[in-house]
Amino acid sequence: LDELTGSFNRRSIMRMLEEEIARADRSGAPCSIALIDLDWFKRINDAYGHPTGDEVLRTFSITMFANIRGIDRFGRYGGEEFLLVLPDMDTKNAVRALDRLRAIIADLDWSAFSPGMKATISAGVATLKPNETSDVLLARADSALYAAKAQGRNRIASA
Ligand code: GH3
Ligand code: MG
Ligand code: MG
Repeated sequence: LDELTGSFNRRSIMRMLEEEIARADRSGAPCSIALIDLDWFKRINDAYGHPTGDEVLRTFSITMFANIRGIDRFGRYGGEEFLLVLPDMDTKNAVRALDRLRAIIADLDWSAFSPGMKATISAGVATLKPNETSDVLLARADSALYAAKAQGRNRIASA
């Protein structure tokens, strides 16, 4: 586990991604992923301090676990970037699920941490293609995340 957030660490979530890709290849069921990045996180650290930034990452992670399915897998990919694996979900349903999570995070009462604080996420969604490797799938999710940032943040984009 990742020590800060209690979510799966990078090695674990990458192993789970490989397992879910293998399962989807066998069964023919869809499998989607989302790369999720906190918006303007440097500003949160700068404005409220690094320990508060850590608390934001913990609260984000707990909120994610409270709002995903039992079969979903959620882990810290690095820094303030997270990977969500969504077995049995096509692109349309994955985008819908991520937009719901996005709204839940945006609507949290972050001012409980510090007056005036707001925190939002952006995510890039990609759905596994036949014979696709995890590297290529992740690269597509990453470019969708880049698009979500470029479009203004606090939003979901799909590859
Ligand atoms: P963007 O909306 O483009 O994502 O802007 P950003 O400021 O979030 O940019 P970026 O994703 O590059 O910022 C990463 C920042 O996250 C920089 C680093 O200081 C901070 N960060 C990474 N890991 C941690 C952590 O464990 N704790 C805290 N407090 N900050 C972290
Ligand atoms: Mg960020
Ligand atoms: Mg980042």
